[in-house]
Amino acid sequence: MKEIIINYIESQEEEIVRLATELIGANTVNPPGNECLAVNVVEKYFKTHGIQYDIFEKIKGRTNIVGYIGSGNPILLVACHLDVVPPGDGWNTDPFKSVVKNGRIYGRGASDNKGQMASMLVLARFLKENESKLSGSFLLVGAADEEKGSSLGMKYLLDECKVTADFAIIPDVAHNMRMIDVGEKGALFLNITSHGKQAHGSTPEKGTNAIWDMIELLNQLKNIKFKCLSHELFTPPTLNLGTISGGVATNIVAAKCEARLDIRYLPGETKEEVLNNIKEMMASIRKHNPTANYEITIDSDLPPSQAPVDNPLLNLIAMHTESILGLKPKTMGLSGSTVTKQLIEKDIMAVGFGPGDEEQAHIANESIEIKELIDFGKIMGLITFDLLK
Ligand SMILES: [Zn+2]
Repeated sequence: MKEIIINYIESQEEEIVRLATELIGANTVNPPGNECLAVNVVEKYFKTHGIQYDIFEKIKGRTNIVGYIGSGNPILLVACHLDVVPPGDGWNTDPFKSVVKNGRIYGRGASDNKGQMASMLVLARFLKENESKLSGSFLLVGAADEEKGSSLGMKYLLDECKVTADFAIIPDVAHNMRMIDVGEKGALFLNITSHGKQAHGSTPEKGTNAIWDMIELLNQLKNIKFKCLSHELFTPPTLNLGTISGGVATNIVAAKCEARLDIRYLPGETKEEVLNNIKEMMASIRKHNPTANYEITIDSDLPPSQAPVDNPLLNLIAMHTESILGLKPKTMGLSGSTVTKQLIEKDIMAVGFGPGDEEQAHIANESIEIKELIDFGKIMGLITFDLLK
C-alpha cells in the first residue's frame, strides 16, 4: 500500500498545482470572507470524484464544506481554512493569480492555507478510490473564518453542525512538517482603563492625571510574575502592550487613558490567576495613590490547551514523516492559536502539523514549495491508512 500511495500522490503534482491555483484565484480575503468562492472549487472536485459532502453556512457566503470518505469510527478530521488575510503591499505579481516559479506556488493563501487544501483534496480522491480498505471515516473540512476567530467556521461546525471526530490534524502550523503542535498557550486580551479627573493644564494639582496612573501600572505590568514560568513544551509566558491612548490636549489633565494587553500564559495557570495578579498590582498602587482608579475588561480569552500525551497521532506522524522526509518532527507548544485549540476543547485528539515556512504566512509574495505539498499528501495518506485500519 505504501508504494501505491506514494506513487499516486507523486502522479498528482499537476493536479495539486491546478487546485491550488483555482483556490488562490477565489478571493476569500477575510473580511468579508466570501469563502463560498473557494467552496465552489472544492465542491466541484468532490462531485467529480463521487465524494459525499455537506455545506454549512451560518451567514450567507461564509461557507464551510465537509467531505466524507469511509464510514463509522474512528473518525479522522483534517481541516484547512479557506479564508485569507488581505494581500497588503509589496507584491511582485497579482496575489490572486498564482504563479509557479522555481518549484514554488506564489499567491495569497498558497501557504496559509490553500496549498494544503489542494494537497488534501488529491488525497481525498485517492482515499475515495480505496474506500473499501478503510475502516473508519476521513473528513476533509474546508473551513471559513479562521483568520477572524472561526465563529463562522470551525467553532460553528463543532458547536452547531454536529461535526465531530476522534482525531484531527490541522495543517496550519508551517514549520515544514518538522514540528507537531501539541498545545497552545492561553491568549488573554485585556483592555485596561485608568480614570482620572480633568483639570486645566496649568493647575495639574486640581485634577488626577489618568495617564500618570496608567504609566505607574504599566511599569509594574512590565515585570509581571506569572505563576507558571516554564513548561517543557512552551516558551515562557509573555505580555505585550499593544496600544495605549489617553488625553485630549496638551493643556488639559487627562481624565482617561486606555491600554490594550496581549497576554500569553501557560497551562497550569488560569485566566483568573492572571487577572488577580493584575488586580493586586492595582490595589498596591492605590495604597500610596488613593485616587488611582482602574477598570479592567476582557476583550477575549482562549485558555491554554494541550493534546493528551497518549494521542496515537503523535507516533504515526513521527513515524511516517521520518519515512518520507528522513527526519522526526519535534513536539512543541505554540504561542499562537489555531483551531486545534477548539477541537481539543471538544475532547478531539487534535494536533497541528503541516507544510510551509513559518515566515510565509501573511507576508507579500506568499509561497509554498510544491514538493512539500506532495510530501505532505504522502505522509497524510500513510497516517490515514494506519489509523483507519
Ligand atoms: Zn492559517
